[in-house]
Amino acid sequence: MGKKVLIATEKPFAPAARDAVAKTLSAAGYEAKLLESYTNPADLLAAVADADALIVRSDKVTDAVLAAGKNLKIVVRAGAGYDNVDCVAAKAKQIVVMNTPGQNANAVAELAIGMMIMMARGKYSGKSGTEISGKTLGLDGFGAVARRVGEIARKGFGMKILACDPFVPAAKMKEAGAEAAPLPAIFEKSDYVSLHVPLVKETERSITYDLMKRMKKNAALINTARAEVVDEAGLLKIYAERPDIKYASDITPANQKEMVACDGNRCFFTPKKMGAQTSEANFNAGVAAAKQIIAFFEKGDVTYQVNK
Ligand code: NAD
Repeated sequence: MGKKVLIATEKPFAPAARDAVAKTLSAAGYEAKLLESYTNPADLLAAVADADALIVRSDKVTDAVLAAGKNLKIVVRAGAGYDNVDCVAAKAKQIVVMNTPGQNANAVAELAIGMMIMMARGKYSGKSGTEISGKTLGLDGFGAVARRVGEIARKGFGMKILACDPFVPAAKMKEAGAEAAPLPAIFEKSDYVSLHVPLVKETERSITYDLMKRMKKNAALINTARAEVVDEAGLLKIYAERPDIKYASDITPANQKEMVACDGNRCFFTPKKMGAQTSEANFNAGVAAAKQIIAFFEKGDVTYQVNK
């Protein structure tokens, strides 16, 4: 009998994506088992018990889930960020954790660009706004999403692109049409700052009051990364002090009420995280996850392992 792959999605894949994932697995002789829209974490503990592999989206894969998956060899997060998976516990249990890098980059990039335009045009309120063409865009992080944002902004809107990423050499940025700059300079020089770093210890609350204080007049901060990357107390403070700056985020901050009470016209939050919520991104990330699981079992391929 083929390996069992549990597809556990609190927020399910689009049906076409889910069917494509199941088809990819069954074509390779694997058994796809579905757990969709569950509300009780105990359901995941029960469902994972006989699974050899697990595909999740933003579902929390805790030490308890990993322990319940007695046969579990691999967990794939269909998406880019994997802060929802306890990678340390997985490593201790010799369970491989992977993400599917780049598969939802265009979806998130389009949302970030849309948010920039939305803020430039006063949240479509009818008031006179500005244009993003020819302005400067600063990117914090220069991975798959940031590169796509930069490409669209540069080619489509003639924007100047600055970027900061300690793991990407300046020459690589230049090849991609971006100029390397330290983060403080990015905040000083950019009309739009867009965040694209993963949530890790080094990036948690890395967007501090002191950085945001450097923002250019009328600049906008766009966050399609993670809420925790921004120091929200610092954000509220600078937002109150500077009636010119704007904040748009794909992740509602804990202090949403205070931000809106301060000035709801300059901030925007999606009602739920939706950067990767497109049919195309669902399909690409889900099918990539299935293919990575097959390559792992058939060929020992660990190219996309994130918990080495
Ligand atoms: P990626 O892994 O391709 O890129 C992340 C980049 O950040 C890498 O180039 C890495 O070198 C860089 N980086 C790591 N630590 C850094 C640091 N301390 N300072 C600056 N740069 C650093 O990932 P991606 O696909 O571009 O996605 C970026 C992040 O966006 C994800 O980690 C995830 O948290 C978030 N995301 C959100 C959504 C959404 O629905 N809103 C969807 C996808 C991704």
